[in-house]
Amino acid sequence: DAKVSGSCKYKSLCAEYLKSLNWNEALFDRRFNRCYCSNCYPDSWDNTLVEAGSLYVIPRSWCRFGLQVDKVRSNVDHIWRDWIVTYHGTSVEAAHSIVAHRQFLIPGDKCIDGEKIAILPGHIKEKYHIYTSPTIAYSSIPCYCPSKQFRSKITNKLYDVRIVIQCRQKPGTFQVQQETIGAGNKRICPIIPNSQVEIFTTVRASIIPYGLLIHLAEIS
Ligand SMILES: [Zn+2]
Repeated sequence: DAKVSGSCKYKSLCAEYLKSLNWNEALFDRRFNRCYCSNCYPDSWDNTLVEAGSLYVIPRSWCRFGLQVDKVRSNVDHIWRDWIVTYHGTSVEAAHSIVAHRQFLIPGDKCIDGEKIAILPGHIKEKYHIYTSPTIAYSSIPCYCPSKQFRSKITNKLYDVRIVIQCRQKPGTFQVQQETIGAGNKRICPIIPNSQVEIFTTVRASIIPYGLLIHLAEIS
């Protein structure tokens, strides 16, 4: 049984990994923590939810750690009522940059340490966009979301770890397009068709991160 006295073992492992990153505690808001493992979010529950009139896919088998959200932004823009839910898959380093800068950066922007944001090798050149998706199946594809290895002190096992940022995104500020990873006829998500899995925008302020999703897969 994964549940021991009300706490989830998977969530504890994800929390152990997050702690190992040494991010500042002040970035997080525990009230928005939520585990979507099969014990915490049973198979019989909905696979999708609608927020702000837009369908998104529940991040089954991921665990969310809530992020602090700016009160002014949430009150002025009514992000919990009017903005849709999207995912952004990225590396641990880029995720930290987004969360610590309190905003997404667009290729060409400079970080606070002076380093310029570059388009990753293999990604489309001269596209100064931020990419998101209504389905974590697309956001967590390795070219967006490279995995790292982590050995837990709790289980002494080795895991592949991936990170995806869960966001609220303002309707009317983005475009939807088909996948750009050359999937062809291979279906990426059983719910959202390949023709609608990619969202892109040049409007930096139209995306607000509110959760850090962590996925652990046991290697050995
Ligand atoms: Zn759980």
